[in-house]
Amino acid sequence: MANKQFDVVVIGAGPGGYVAAIRAAQLGFSTACIEMESYADPKGEVRLGGTCLNVGCIPSKALLRSSELYDEANHSFVMHGITADNVKMDVGTMVRRKDNIVTQLTGGIKGLFKKNKITQLTGRGSFAGRENELWQIAVTGKDGAAEVVDAKHVIVATGSSPRHIEGIPVDNQVICDNVGALSLDAVPKRLGVIGAGVIGLELGSVWKRLGAEVTILEALPDFLAAADPAVAKEAWKTFTTKQGLKINLGVKITSVKQGKKGVTIDYESGDGAQKLECDRLIVSVGRVPNTAGLGADQVGLKLDNRGCIEVNDHCQTNLENVWAVGDVIRGPMLAHKGMEEGVMVAELIAGQAGHVNYDAIPWVIYTHPEIAWVGKTETQLKNEGVEYKVGQIPFMANGRALGQGDTTGFVKMLACAKTDRVLGVHIIGASASELIAEAVTAMEFGAVSEDIARICHAHPTLSEVMHEAALAVDKRPLHF
Ligand code: FAD
Ligand code: NAD
Repeated sequence: MANKQFDVVVIGAGPGGYVAAIRAAQLGFSTACIEMESYADPKGEVRLGGTCLNVGCIPSKALLRSSELYDEANHSFVMHGITADNVKMDVGTMVRRKDNIVTQLTGGIKGLFKKNKITQLTGRGSFAGRENELWQIAVTGKDGAAEVVDAKHVIVATGSSPRHIEGIPVDNQVICDNVGALSLDAVPKRLGVIGAGVIGLELGSVWKRLGAEVTILEALPDFLAAADPAVAKEAWKTFTTKQGLKINLGVKITSVKQGKKGVTIDYESGDGAQKLECDRLIVSVGRVPNTAGLGADQVGLKLDNRGCIEVNDHCQTNLENVWAVGDVIRGPMLAHKGMEEGVMVAELIAGQAGHVNYDAIPWVIYTHPEIAWVGKTETQLKNEGVEYKVGQIPFMANGRALGQGDTTGFVKMLACAKTDRVLGVHIIGASASELIAEAVTAMEFGAVSEDIARICHAHPTLSEVMHEAALAVDKRPLHF
């Protein structure tokens, strides 16, 4: 019997893959999407949405919100004259709420597949060969049985998995990566975290707010090295001094031992040999691209020296009609970056002018205060020898922030000294994740800071701080 044939076969149903499949289907291509993971599905059925929906962005944000409310009830209500005695957190309820959100959203992608007439194929997708200008893709189920389908175009969107460290066995009970860390059954008294990156800070914040004593061990000597230095400095001050997160920088882990009473981590730092005892440990030291079992070798699909699938600016691999998007290729491991690439590739396959502006991809860290940025940091501009102007305004000068009782942080705008073009915007403060959208839009439209300075911003809103930062670039803020 002839293999089923599709115009486009997508391998992986995370944000890169499912969005690519939807856009391809919208453009009239017969499309299939292969997914193999059930994640925590109670019936063991394959779930769509990838890392993001199942064990990443969405569940972490659900827990962050729950822990934020608990923290506010304990610490912020009082300033409004509200007494909230005996506030309790039921971790089981919090985790179930998170699981329900995940179930709702992953089911939602199934619905979108149906609506767009996308064929869902269940199993591990791998390259099986090429004949008559068609790729043969094997879809291997858990029982080992394989169906082979033919594809004119293949989009690889197999994502990434947590990087584990040799000698630190992750069981997702006591020593956890993101999967276990999102489903702890109780608040640990002492929580250790290896890696002060995005996951370490977000999930460290969740369990800290719920009462854990959190110690983060970071290999690099600088905190949040990718962020603008002023933001990193403010974040360090807030997280360590005000919130009590213990963060040790420049550490070298020498051993991790799991015993009956928990985990003992031996490490070296500037202060010599140290020991950390904790009840649970989160290992969040980055992620690795998923290319194992893909059959890359068999068909000669090129990987780069980091193990990512090698692609050009248009996400084309070295093989004809084979594309790759999302975490499995170069660039930041962000859901929205993968989605944009998915759309671009589908449109390029359709002969349209698909494009991703990699210079205007926003970053957000969902701590409190939130951190968000787009474009260049001050460090990058200095290193590149670009002359720039700075406008920086604190939320303390904003009426809405005062009314909300949340005045930490600032908006910092960097503009070209010669052309005034906005080169970067860096925010630390409440709702930074939402505020950054204005900066992204401005940069996409090639705005100068004067454009933002002349746009009417609603009063009283936090967005006025963006307005004032733009005015401050020209040294004429009105309220600071
Ligand atoms: P994935 O989401 O990893 O999906 C790939 C899918 O492919 C998986 O479901 C996998 O099972 C499947 N697959 C792999 N190999 C095969 C195969 N051979 N056959 C069939 N299926 C296969 N990003 C943000 O932008 N914002 C956030 O707030 C954010 N928070 C995060 C929080 C955590 C705790 C984590 C871990 C990540 C977070 N991320 C966040 C990153 C984000 O989840 C990823 O960038 C995004 O999921 C990448 O999408 P993707 O489609 O490339 O890959
Ligand atoms: P990360 O790259 O953000 O941080 C890892 C940290 O671990 C780094 O600071 C690194 O220096 C440190 N590290 C590495 N090896 C170490 C070692 N042996 N000992 C001590 N420290 C060590 O990675 P992550 O936090 O694991 O997150 C993975 C990816 O998921 C990120 O790339 C990020 O893009 C994505 N993510 C995004 C969001 C978001 O957008 N809000 C949230 C969570 C995760």
